Amino acid sequence: MKLSQLFTKTRKDIPADETAKNAQLLIQAGYINKEMAGVYTFLPLGLRVLENICQIVREEMDAIGGQELKFSSLQDAEIWKATDRWDDEKVDVWFKTKLKNGTELGLGPTHEEPMTRAAKPFIKSYKDLPFLTYQIQTKFRNETRAKSGVMRGREFLMKDMYSFARTEAEHEELYDKIKQAYIKIYDRLGIGEQTFLTFASGGMFSQFSHEFQTICEAGEDTIYLDRAKGIAINEEVNTDKVIADLGLNRADLEEVRAAEVGNIFTLKDKFSRPLDLTFTDEVGEEQVVLMGSYGVGPSRLVGVITELLADEKGLVWPENIAPAQVYLVRLGEDTQVVAAADSLYETLQNKGIEVLYDDRDARAGEKFADADLLGIPHRVVVSQKTLEQGKLEHKARTSQDSAMVSEEELLKKLAS
Ligand code: ATP
Ligand code: MG
Repeated sequence: MKLSQLFTKTRKDIPADETAKNAQLLIQAGYINKEMAGVYTFLPLGLRVLENICQIVREEMDAIGGQELKFSSLQDAEIWKATDRWDDEKVDVWFKTKLKNGTELGLGPTHEEPMTRAAKPFIKSYKDLPFLTYQIQTKFRNETRAKSGVMRGREFLMKDMYSFARTEAEHEELYDKIKQAYIKIYDRLGIGEQTFLTFASGGMFSQFSHEFQTICEAGEDTIYLDRAKGIAINEEVNTDKVIADLGLNRADLEEVRAAEVGNIFTLKDKFSRPLDLTFTDEVGEEQVVLMGSYGVGPSRLVGVITELLADEKGLVWPENIAPAQVYLVRLGEDTQVVAAADSLYETLQNKGIEVLYDDRDARAGEKFADADLLGIPHRVVVSQKTLEQGKLEHKARTSQDSAMVSEEELLKKLAS
């Protein structure tokens, strides 16, 4: 992508109506646009980051046999009445709307109900189970506060997986497999070391649910972390009994701010019973399907990763989610420099390397500042000076120093 053609621009002023660092930086860099509080548009560079995150999530869900689908946002009130989740007293984040004839509809805040109903016609016998489904889809929640930028949206992206099992043991097996897949996701996103499996309230169906909490000052949660054991408990289960049950010691627990980046639940028959999702077992008896639900927040992750990695100069993206690997700076307008930079741009693209090519007629300082603000992992400069030495200047976004390298050496760096 040539910067001269990219319709977004960076801006120097910090948006006055944003208090969250993630939103300030993402707006300054032209990654997102604020529509209103808690509602953001992902612009071209932001969308690339979001989609790279989704792709990693998708690969890990596919690897454990997840079947991707996509539900509608518009929700039929009837199924939510059947599970007693339509009432605003029961679920306080609903956005609701009406058809012209007055029929009430909702905008999906989560999708257990439609998923359960959609499964019903396909499940008859034990042979039809188990399975996993998932989607990466827009959720709507009328959140009371929306001051955390993309970390808490009123419209946001969620990956939600659902598991369907015949027995508790089979459910446990699926649950554990998904838990392991989540650990891989956060590792691949570069936040594995700061992300901890956290015991949270299980509601009525199991002693615990599990959250994945990433240590982050901008997070909205407080967790109690046993760093040595690598597990945490959240505020709502911080009791002497839970600490004892988990074999933890209060003295070893550190209170830290964190952001919830994932949440996994055992649902048992909470949805399958009211929506009548049953199967016939091996001996011909009717049983209720046992379910689980498993969320990840890709748009929140864009914010969390921004908060964790950004420095005083701007965004910093890990290689595998960056909108481009290389920020190619052309310094000068001489024919020779232009030809060399154009040719490097072609070469890199032909090798499948994503490049943001700063081909604008702008000052060096401006180009370097934008390279930093945009957070692209590798900055490569082509100038009269580099041409004279027959080399390129390379600098990693996370390093202070630049080095003169040959094209071959550059390609090696980019491949590693
Ligand atoms: P929270 O406790 O932060 O309100 P939740 O427990 O209601 O979240 P879930 O319903 O379990 O969240 O949603 C699954 C995941 O979706 C969460 O772990 C989080 O990463 C993400 N998520 C939830 N609410 C939002 C939101 N308003 N904006 C962005 N991401 C969200
Ligand atoms: Mg939660």
